[in-house]
Amino acid sequence: MVHSVTILPGDGIGPEVSSAMRKCVDATGVKIAWDEQIVGAPAIAQFGTPLPGSVIEAIKKSKVAIKGPIETPIGKGFRSVNVQLRQALDLYACVRPAKFIEGTKAVNSKVDLVICRENTEDLYSGVEFDVNTDEAKKLIAMINGVSIKQVREDSAISIKPISLFGSERIIRYAFEYALTHGRKKVTVVHKANIMKFTDGLFLRMGQKIAAEYEGRIVFDNVLVDNMCMQLVQKPELYDVLVLTNLYGDIVSDLCAGMVGGLGIAPGANIGEHAALFEPVHGSAPKYAGLNKVNPTATILSAVLMLQHLEENDAAQRLEQAVRDVIKEGKAVTYDLKADRNDPTAVGTQEMAAAICAKLRR
Ligand code: NAD
Repeated sequence: MVHSVTILPGDGIGPEVSSAMRKCVDATGVKIAWDEQIVGAPAIAQFGTPLPGSVIEAIKKSKVAIKGPIETPIGKGFRSVNVQLRQALDLYACVRPAKFIEGTKAVNSKVDLVICRENTEDLYSGVEFDVNTDEAKKLIAMINGVSIKQVREDSAISIKPISLFGSERIIRYAFEYALTHGRKKVTVVHKANIMKFTDGLFLRMGQKIAAEYEGRIVFDNVLVDNMCMQLVQKPELYDVLVLTNLYGDIVSDLCAGMVGGLGIAPGANIGEHAALFEPVHGSAPKYAGLNKVNPTATILSAVLMLQHLEENDAAQRLEQAVRDVIKEGKAVTYDLKADRNDPTAVGTQEMAAAICAKLRR
């Protein structure tokens, strides 16, 4: 079977890590019809926009895409392409596994977690009112009229919507993910002791859905501040974590740091009708074109894509090849060497070639 996959190389280091990833996926033997689409800086140069409408249409058709990072130009009037893609395709679940890889600078060898972060609402919904604007003043007057707790008049306001709909679908996703990926436990992470309505709704939804999975998946809930401490001290107690958008963003970076940093952290954005896989890291413009950065995060994102395409044997072989190369520690990029200036560090494409060589054996 040939799978149709849209590939968005992106900009900065994106094209380098994407081509390294593509070679590794092709080396697994899985047949992919790659449809390459231009986004980010090259698309601005060619089409005057970082996200041409045809890209969304291409992903809607293929239903599966993998992308390199894309720079968000600051102060040039362009909205983040990443946010636009997530919204246009309603990619509501951001899934980030964090698993120890021998040979990395991981702080704890017992980490094997999957973070399921809600991607569409919470304080990231973009409903904000700047200090001293008419809108902020009207809103504050309205709040102060109906609430015992008063808001200072010189406040800026960000709104935190947490809906039943959004909470149900991400929590259900986390439980289904646990079932289909052989995971044992789902933990709802929240701050419902303080935000009794928003986080309280999320927690109660977790408890309700957990009842449907009783006997199959263990459920618990932990306050987000306690969770951060527990993750550092006892990560082996946790398995799948499900969080609202802001906590998910912070906790997934914490977990990426615990397993060795941005160069090896993969991610997936999943919706009902499309899935988009991408490394957690950004476009690292200062390294662009140098064949220097680590391709692992993008290659492990492709492992998640292969699992999504139900190419589980290829996914497992590719992940093992990455692990073997990093464990050996020879054909790895500078960030995986004990000394970042180690002259034996190899380039992006050479590390990918070493991974392909392991795969073929
Ligand atoms: P970044 O992740 O691009 O880079 C920060 C640092 O992390 C780099 O200087 C480098 O030292 C290290 N690093 C990143 N990727 C690496 C790799 N593969 N191998 C080795 N080291 C690596 O973060 P930033 O500098 O904050 O962001 C740069 C641009 O990327 C910004 O415009 C930002 O908006 C964008 N961004 C895009 C995405 C995305 O496309 N999903 C995600 C994050 C940031």
